[in-house]
Amino acid sequence: MSLYLKYRPSDFDNLMWQSFVKDTLRKAIANQKTVWAYLLCWPRWTGKTTTARLLAKTINCLNPKDWNPCLECEICKNFAEERLVDIVEIDAASHTWVDNIRELIEKAQFSPTRTKYKIYIIDEVHMLSKWAFNALLKILEEPPSFVKFILATTETHKVPETIISRCQRYDFKRISNADIKNRLVYIAKKENISVDEKSYDYIVSNSNWWLRNAISLFEQLIADNEINYDHLVEKLGIISENETKDFLSKLLLRDSSIIDDFDKLVSDWKNIKLFFKELLFFSKNVALNELKKNNDISNYIKIIEILDDTYIKTKNSIDENTTFIIWVLKIIQNVNTSIVENIEKPIFSAKIEKKVENNNYISEEKIEIIKIKSETISESDIEDIFSSWNVEIPKANNLSWFDSGLFISNLKLAKAKWALTMSLLWAEMNINWSWLVIKTKTSIMKKSIENADNFSLMLKVLSDMWMPDMKISII
Ligand SMILES: [Zn+2]
Repeated sequence: MSLYLKYRPSDFDNLMWQSFVKDTLRKAIANQKTVWAYLLCWPRWTGKTTTARLLAKTINCLNPKDWNPCLECEICKNFAEERLVDIVEIDAASHTWVDNIRELIEKAQFSPTRTKYKIYIIDEVHMLSKWAFNALLKILEEPPSFVKFILATTETHKVPETIISRCQRYDFKRISNADIKNRLVYIAKKENISVDEKSYDYIVSNSNWWLRNAISLFEQLIADNEINYDHLVEKLGIISENETKDFLSKLLLRDSSIIDDFDKLVSDWKNIKLFFKELLFFSKNVALNELKKNNDISNYIKIIEILDDTYIKTKNSIDENTTFIIWVLKIIQNVNTSIVENIEKPIFSAKIEKKVENNNYISEEKIEIIKIKSETISESDIEDIFSSWNVEIPKANNLSWFDSGLFISNLKLAKAKWALTMSLLWAEMNINWSWLVIKTKTSIMKKSIENADNFSLMLKVLSDMWMPDMKISII
């Protein structure tokens, strides 16, 4: 038996969501204020059949405890085995019912064989035809004392007013992610399965608020009584959160090496479509966070819009991967790098720390302090710290003979990455004694320049340009 069926709530205590509706229903049963017809209105996938069945079962239970079905009496047992002819479930959306629903409603006039009440659960009731609604209305106007209707719909506006006015109406909410997670934690505990937080997050955020989806995915991922994120990444062929993060930074930086990364994903047989879906959610979350901080999110909006559009296009595309790579190129074309600095928090150049350290200006522990502080404070604050320690940051000093344009062209000839040459184009470059001081416009550009490969390439090019002893400082 699947975990979903195994853990389908058999009583109200186990129905751990929709607490408002649940409590109201229980109270109504407790006060014997049950009505002839209930109308349960809800968005899709909110546990409607479960609630309707629970209600039907509780109303008929011979020995309800705390307004819960006892699960032990003859009625409860027969219900579990689906042997109760007096509780009839109808899916109005399915064509098989179209012809006989009227006859079925007419049969409601006959008293139940074993239960106290004959109960009709009509799911997607808005799909009933006009004459079926008329038959239903007729019986609702003069209901036999032994009949109850539980009507359920996802589209309340399509149910005639005349029907609605004769029902007690309950409006359900979508099951929250927190409730879905709680249910998974409950199942994991019962089944003795250890699950890490990241896996929970992944499952919940990919369930589309549908508990059944969440439980099926959960079940599919269990291996040796465990679900762990590394296995999850491998099993689903998804890309880890860090890789997604890197990919997004590269997009914002217009780093052309992203094309190589993409090729690698394809050759590693990763699930590209799923990856782009992840990227979409990830970008959306980052955008919402940035919005809270009052930062410009126009780049994210572009990414999300173009991605959404691309996702639709892949359905008719000859080659999905090509469609996605065109999306990547489109983003690179459209991203506005001048606002990129607002997105990343200021991180002080690790390379400066290294350079200063090599020249014995400041101690290791002071470097540690800078590293820690650089996470939270701005670059100019860091400069203040430097000066308070009497440490001089290499300052720019114009020298006409350093041709930055030539430097960039030579870097291009040496096959430098696009992100490097692009960031340098935007930067201010000056020579101060034996230092080439590169003043970048944004912290993210600084980061793109200062990776080890770029650094050694720049030193090599400088050396080729007859500046073999030149050191580089990025500020
Ligand atoms: Zn019972």
